[in-house]
Amino acid sequence: MSDTKIIPPIITFDKVNKWYGNSFHVLRDIDLSVAKGERIVICGPSGSGKSTLIRCINRLEEHQQGHLIVDGVELTDDVKAIDQVRKEVGMVFQQFNLFPHLTVLENLTLSPMWVGKMPKKEAEEKAMHQLKRVRIAEQANKYPLQLSGGQQQRVAIARALCLKPKIMLFDEPTSALDPEMIKEVLDVMIAMADEGITMLCVTHEMGFAKAVADRVIFMDQGQIVEQNNPHDFFNNPQNERSKDFLSKIL
Ligand code: ADP
Ligand code: MG
Repeated sequence: MSDTKIIPPIITFDKVNKWYGNSFHVLRDIDLSVAKGERIVICGPSGSGKSTLIRCINRLEEHQQGHLIVDGVELTDDVKAIDQVRKEVGMVFQQFNLFPHLTVLENLTLSPMWVGKMPKKEAEEKAMHQLKRVRIAEQANKYPLQLSGGQQQRVAIARALCLKPKIMLFDEPTSALDPEMIKEVLDVMIAMADEGITMLCVTHEMGFAKAVADRVIFMDQGQIVEQNNPHDFFNNPQNERSKDFLSKIL
């Protein structure tokens, strides 16, 4: 044990429960500890609570029971704590959620300038750096709708990276894309994974999971029913529900 490196968790769910309304129990006793730099893929059937789980991490959804701690801050109704956590957590959605009336560059500089109070020139330099990183710098002055879906999603990733997040959440980032565009987005995500940022990604892209995930989490009916390294999860699932799910998607 002495040479085992102990990395403190950056995210801890401790018996987290959430309901929608009074009766729909969407997250059930979630216990999950994510190490700094860990890359987690979350999969499971539609409606199993995957989006809800990751949206709780930046408080786009609230939990009602248990404790959720993100980078040392417990998420409660304390607005300051929520603001602090949101600064550290980037999110990329299935529908890119870019502002259509702003150019690509303006989409990236908006928040650093107005929330982060960064001077325009500096915000633009940083934005261009991120656009290069996702290999789309030449599109900086176009509007989102002039780009392909794959390009728009790479802009959304660059926008999230401009805020220098410690944690990146992805919610089915390639599900809305045509097949030929999926790879260009996954390649950008794989490169990010190599840089050590903590990532939680809801996806059914098993190639991506095998390439980058330290751990695959399988959810069903609001519970984490199985978790394992990708090799063992895909080759030797233990739970009946994971076996059933994998038999349908593989
Ligand atoms: P997944 O991402 O795994 O498909 P979700 O977290 O989106 O699952 O949803 C889990 C369940 O919660 C689904 O049954 C969904 O219909 C329900 N749900 C999601 N969002 C809401 C909401 N805002 N109000 C009520 N029910 C919701
Ligand atoms: Mg979802």
